[in-house]
Amino acid sequence: MPILGRYMRGLAVFLAILIVAPTLVTAEQNWPGEPVDNHIYMTYAALTQEVNDWANDNPDIVQLSSIGNSYLNRELWMVVLSDWSMETKSNGDVKEVIYIDGGHHGNEYLGTALAWLTAKWYINEWNAGNDEAVDVLQSTELHILIMLNPDGNDADTRHNLNLTTAANPFVSEPVPTGIDLNRNYDHYWDDCSPSDPFAPGSGPFSEPETRANADYMNAYVQDADLYVTMHTGVWIMLYPWGKWPDQPPDWELFHGIRDEVNGNISDIPIQNANQGLYPNCGTSRDYGYGVMGFPTFTFETDDDQFLPGTFEDVNDRLGEELDVMRYLINNIWYWRARLVVETFSIEDEEVTFTVNNMGRASTRNATLQYVDGDDILWESDNFTANASSITEVTSSGWDDLQGGEWRLSYQKRVVHSSQWVNESVELSPYSKSLFDHSIEVLIWIAQAGAIPIIVVAFAFWWSREEKPFDIEDEAVLEAEIIE
Ligand SMILES: [Zn+2]
Repeated sequence: MPILGRYMRGLAVFLAILIVAPTLVTAEQNWPGEPVDNHIYMTYAALTQEVNDWANDNPDIVQLSSIGNSYLNRELWMVVLSDWSMETKSNGDVKEVIYIDGGHHGNEYLGTALAWLTAKWYINEWNAGNDEAVDVLQSTELHILIMLNPDGNDADTRHNLNLTTAANPFVSEPVPTGIDLNRNYDHYWDDCSPSDPFAPGSGPFSEPETRANADYMNAYVQDADLYVTMHTGVWIMLYPWGKWPDQPPDWELFHGIRDEVNGNISDIPIQNANQGLYPNCGTSRDYGYGVMGFPTFTFETDDDQFLPGTFEDVNDRLGEELDVMRYLINNIWYWRARLVVETFSIEDEEVTFTVNNMGRASTRNATLQYVDGDDILWESDNFTANASSITEVTSSGWDDLQGGEWRLSYQKRVVHSSQWVNESVELSPYSKSLFDHSIEVLIWIAQAGAIPIIVVAFAFWWSREEKPFDIEDEAVLEAEIIE
């Protein structure tokens, strides 16, 4: 090659480095991966370094642990973020719990990146003193498993690297392909046909990655009121079910979130997973909702990744997705039923009370109970409390009991699997004559201030378009019965 030619080529490379270098340097500060081919990519080694740096640099808010190992024995890193100087919220209540995982599918880098970015945003913003991040970390535990399938990640393949044919008897191809971890959960495992080409494994939780994930859910985050599992493919958010086309029992909660996200934050389509894609069984989403009772979303970032030289900062690339995550996290308090007794009276054998459901999820089979330790001395009839509405209940059989305590007993959401809570209520049980009661009501009504409240409350109640327990919606509950 002529010297001049070699010089020109050297100059071209030098210029290319000059042009590209600032982009790479900027990106490196934020995202530990690199652009490879046409997508961003972070190795397991880079992730390991990154999460350990987080824990070392931020012991006040980051706890790092390994919750198990992949098929090829790589650690599955769990990052838990909260203000560890506070055991509870500042008002003494137990902190909210949120569960997030990424990287079920090893070649879906943007989904893994979104899990990474969510954790990174709270760490950066906490250190910057951002009020939103501080409020969240003082009131919430964020449990984030960024990369569930490190073996598939490093091999740039969807499945894990369990290539034993015995583990994969349903795949017709003669060459073993590994197991699709997002078909390996114990919720209607391999009950969608055809299972091929999804390689669900030899049985539910046959794979160490899914078993570790489910063990963690059951041991540490049973109380979670949000589970988001992050993937890449089409730009969509999917709520349960994948197994059935029916809307889930808590459709009201999911539709409410959909409407608020679409109205205020992002146009991302939000749908039932079965209708949004295709029937899918044994997914972590259906397990998270159908078995754990979490409100669950699969967050699919689109597949539109990067061309060489156009590598965009991942914070900018996934900014809209992060905005949706911040909304879901900021409003965690609302993603369940939250019952508050507002009025209460006893007349002879009848107890009458009104319950305000402050949460965005409905609940059925709720009761007000009078208890002495574990003994239920009296309980109201079962009642249903629709989301964001007030319910009046009258129950008989009260027998002038003494020495106990009042509590509300109800499920956080409609789905059978959702958690039961027993919450004590400060009420003074007292009986009064009909005469006393009438006088009190007259005085109350006479107070002009009370009337607008009644009107507003009634108008609010009346204006609700979606009432999950109207007769026309009874069919909705079928999916729950099948479960
Ligand atoms: Zn996926």
